[in-house]
Amino acid sequence: MINSEPVIAIKHLNHYYGKGVLKRQILFDINLEIYPGEIVIMTGPSGSGKTTLLSLIGGLRSVQEGSLKFLGTELLGASQNKLVQVRRKIGYIFQAHNLLGFLTARQNVQMAVELNDEIAQSQAIAKSEAMLKAVGLQDRMNYYPDNLSGGQKQRVAIARALVNHPPLVLADEPTAALDKQSGRDVVEIMQSLAKEQGTSILLVTHDNRILDIADRIVEMEDGLLTRNSQGIARNQNSSKS
Ligand code: ADP
Ligand code: MG
Repeated sequence: MINSEPVIAIKHLNHYYGKGVLKRQILFDINLEIYPGEIVIMTGPSGSGKTTLLSLIGGLRSVQEGSLKFLGTELLGASQNKLVQVRRKIGYIFQAHNLLGFLTARQNVQMAVELNDEIAQSQAIAKSEAMLKAVGLQDRMNYYPDNLSGGQKQRVAIARALVNHPPLVLADEPTAALDKQSGRDVVEIMQSLAKEQGTSILLVTHDNRILDIADRIVEMEDGLLTRNSQGIARNQNSSKS
């Protein structure tokens, strides 16, 4: 795992919000690598810069200073076009599921397939249904989001994020709105699908109860990565509690 090319390689990354006298540094000399198939959990207090870092990694915001490579492609100075290419290779899961309310579970997933691929509709449907089955929603494919529980909606979001088998999934507090058991279920589904597909996951969470699914835990504090057990890509055999 450690010998292969990293999915994400970040060196000396700084980031600022605001201009002129209002300019404020948010991220300070971030160094981080994520390898294929690795599940990295990022913790840290609210306002410490976690979402900002995720949005930079996801190509949703332009890199200002330092180096951020996605699969070897430098994002510093990258064109909008290149950023779009990068975004297509990343699955996103947010705190709020961001499903479209006027589409069924299956249609929400299917849309992600069709945006990405020149693919026949029948095939897109088959792919979407297989993915919803994989997250345990075979009985809910034709439900609208309003008729699904929080945990079920988040599972649809997982199916949507993983249906194109992206090399990287970014998840920003995906369990924040869920009760303990649904939160646990959701991350376990993410974990098993990611391991199956060889997908890397970077997951931001405050939820101490899911830390054991990580291969590695990093901690953000005031814009600094204060804990980064780089290279120790191993599952701590912690008990699930
Ligand atoms: P976290 O996800 O760890 O809560 P954020 O990355 O959202 O942290 O925010 C880090 C800091 O940057 C906070 O002080 C926040 O207020 C500020 N911030 C976030 N987004 C913006 C923005 N678009 N413009 C200006 N400041 C922002
Ligand atoms: Mg945040």
